[in-house]
Amino acid sequence: MPELPEVEMVRRSLEPLLVGHKIVGADVLFEDYLRECSGNDVCSLVEQRFHQLVRHGKYLYLMVDERELETHLGMTGRLLVCGRGEERVKHTHVCLHLDSGQELRFIDPRRFGYLRIRRTGAAHERQSMLGIEPLRPDFTWQNVEKALRGRKAPLKSLLMDQKIVAGLGNIYADEALFRAQLNPCQPAGALSEEVYQRLCDAIESVIADALGAGGTTFSDYVDANGDGGEFYRSLDAYGREGQPCRHCDTPLVRMVLGGRSACYCSRCQPLV
Ligand SMILES: [Zn+2]
Repeated sequence: MPELPEVEMVRRSLEPLLVGHKIVGADVLFEDYLRECSGNDVCSLVEQRFHQLVRHGKYLYLMVDERELETHLGMTGRLLVCGRGEERVKHTHVCLHLDSGQELRFIDPRRFGYLRIRRTGAAHERQSMLGIEPLRPDFTWQNVEKALRGRKAPLKSLLMDQKIVAGLGNIYADEALFRAQLNPCQPAGALSEEVYQRLCDAIESVIADALGAGGTTFSDYVDANGDGGEFYRSLDAYGREGQPCRHCDTPLVRMVLGGRSACYCSRCQPLV
């Protein structure tokens, strides 16, 4: 599932292909992909020009003159910019024709993602509903502590709660906890300042490294040009159940926490 680094790579790769370009036509092939809007709303975007692409957590906003296109990639979503004549792959749900002769395609085989046409200001409202976000100036260990202090839930569950930390999912929560040497089950609310600092640093370093590697591609995630990310080579914890810990060789274990799996090293990541 695309998390902060993958959605940010999509944003960066789309930016030069969209900003300044006008929508000159639209095809809605699968209306169920639209959320709280209709095919007519999509067609009303014709003549509008993209001027900015903004990401908050895992949400991406494509700003046009008088609307904001909110999109979420769900599990398998792709936003590709293709030549108008290129064959459309299966599960292409919406195409926006651009004045560059290319088209922006919204593709999503498993359909957990969506496109929603919203009025101006929606991105700002979304941001106010999300928690602190790695790599932004207010992502400090003090604010991480403030978000977690007093909470009894396990660290892993809270790191994946978008209202607490925006942009993390299963992959980067596992990786950050491995780097911070913290147990996924650790109650989040009563840690020392030193531990909150370690956690904050681990989250920021894992997100920065993943961005540097272009994100993590297992099968679905690609950027707007169709290129995948290489960070899967650097994963220490996620998906490595039974494989030796890169620090101590102990086989990693998997547990289920709130319906989601967590992979960790029982030796390097003890409860504190
Ligand atoms: Zn270990």
